[in-house]
Amino acid sequence: MPLAEERKQEIIKALEKQGARLPCPRCGNQQFILIDGYFNQTIQNELQGMLIGGKSIPSVVIACNRCGFLSQHALGILGLLPKEETQK
Ligand SMILES: [Zn+2]
Repeated sequence: MPLAEERKQEIIKALEKQGARLPCPRCGNQQFILIDGYFNQTIQNELQGMLIGGKSIPSVVIACNRCGFLSQHALGILGLLPKEETQK
């Protein structure tokens, strides 16, 4: 399900408020795309196997529209997670 327009604006506003406005670190381009969904990468303490359902870092992903470089921003740090999610 795509992110609601209101949520996208909330994310962009939070990134701008924190000063995440610099050009792409790879190619210097200044235009980015907010990926229409979340990443939720798992944190695990073992290198073997894949833990499912453990701790994770919900994040938004910004893509450089020229070279495709992806940058991830943790929703919790941006203050965009519901309170119960940040306490895990
Ligand atoms: Zn780039």
